[in-house]
Amino acid sequence: MLAEAVAAAALICLDPGHGTPPAIGRQREPIGPASRVLKIKDGGGAPGEADAVLAIARRTRTLLLRRGYRVVMTRTGPTFRGGNIERARFCNRRGAALMLRIHADGSPDPSRRGASTLYPARRVGWTDDVYAASRRAARAVQRSLVAATGARDLGLVERSDLTGFNWADVPVILAETGFMTNPSEGRLLRSSAYQWRVARGLAAGVSAFSPR
Ligand SMILES: [Zn+2]
Repeated sequence: MLAEAVAAAALICLDPGHGTPPAIGRQREPIGPASRVLKIKDGGGAPGEADAVLAIARRTRTLLLRRGYRVVMTRTGPTFRGGNIERARFCNRRGAALMLRIHADGSPDPSRRGASTLYPARRVGWTDDVYAASRRAARAVQRSLVAATGARDLGLVERSDLTGFNWADVPVILAETGFMTNPSEGRLLRSSAYQWRVARGLAAGVSAFSPR
């Protein structure tokens, strides 16, 4: 019975954003299978984002393991040598129950703050197989993230243009955990205590979406 439970534990694929060397990041890749629309692999993210989201991902992994999930991460250190197609394929190959992309926002307007969760728009051949589950996951994670952090609730955002969504064959969402460019939220996102709060929100959301 225990062995069965362990074997059945859902696998969560955590994808902390950015950390791509600029020489790779500026290469372009199709935004979806057979698409002629190309986008760069990684623009680098907001200042401090790559480090903060890695710290949040590590904490989320700890909490998910504690809850009995299996967890893989696209990067566990500062660098990921690939684009968003590779990130999606990393999670596809492993048959993840959810690909959770972890990011933080940036804006030229320093007053902007708050958390949002992105999910893929429905497109036949690209995301129709993961659309409904992704949207359900986004709802669960956004609710828990806001509850755990007290961040302003910027809601759910449907996106058709994200390479990492369009190549995913597993349910996929992207948590924008806050604005690095807001002085107070940026300070929080760089602090260990707040990173744990974000991680608690993400782990609770995963658990609500995909009970183990
Ligand atoms: Zn980002």
